Amino acid sequence: MTAELLDLTEVVDRAAHELEGAGAMDVLRWAGGVFGSRLAIASSMQDGVLTHLAGRVVPDADVLFLDTGYHFVETLVMRDAVAASHPGRVLSITPVQSVAEQDAAYGPRLYERDPDLCCRLRKRAPLDEALRPYDAWVTGLRHAESPDRSDVPVVSYDAARGKVRIAPLARWRDVDVADYLQRHDVLVNPLVSAGYPSIGCAPCTRAVRPGEHARAGRWAGLSKTGCGIH
Ligand code: SF4
Repeated sequence: MTAELLDLTEVVDRAAHELEGAGAMDVLRWAGGVFGSRLAIASSMQDGVLTHLAGRVVPDADVLFLDTGYHFVETLVMRDAVAASHPGRVLSITPVQSVAEQDAAYGPRLYERDPDLCCRLRKRAPLDEALRPYDAWVTGLRHAESPDRSDVPVVSYDAARGKVRIAPLARWRDVDVADYLQRHDVLVNPLVSAGYPSIGCAPCTRAVRPGEHARAGRWAGLSKTGCGIH
């Protein structure tokens, strides 16, 4: 049965049983088998673990990178390096408005005055649009990243978009990531070793301090903890 004919909520319900205790590669293998070319991989280009795994298991799945116009140069270099070695397509998804056009419409530094709107314009809306051709998307969310990600399911129904969301790394601990990076000589954004264990747009990301969780440097000082894409 093709993915078009599947009831996606049924797929999610079945996956909970079929994938119980499955490793990341098995989860991706399952996703490739169910969704074929209607599967996309979202990457923040923090490290290359997810894209490396995808390249081994679902090499034809498109990789999507949200190019907000506010990224650190290291992240863009990382994106280009991943694109050069990845077997499939790496697509940079851009907002409708450039940063200059957004500044003209909303005033400069919208991220300071209304970061939720800025994220909606530069991340949420572009991803919504980019995901239209797909039935399922893969994210690198992990339980260990922050308290608000501690119960992220491996497979869930993304009701807002009518897609299946897959988080094959959900149960990976930091040590699992480090082990995979070392064993497979995988690319890592150099900012990670400079104190940025979670990397987003430059204006909204700072290095973490000792004892802080990995995402403490994102929108630091604000109650905001996510960009609204998940
Ligand atoms: Fe705008 Fe900051 Fe959100 Fe990036 S993370 S889209 S700069 S508010």
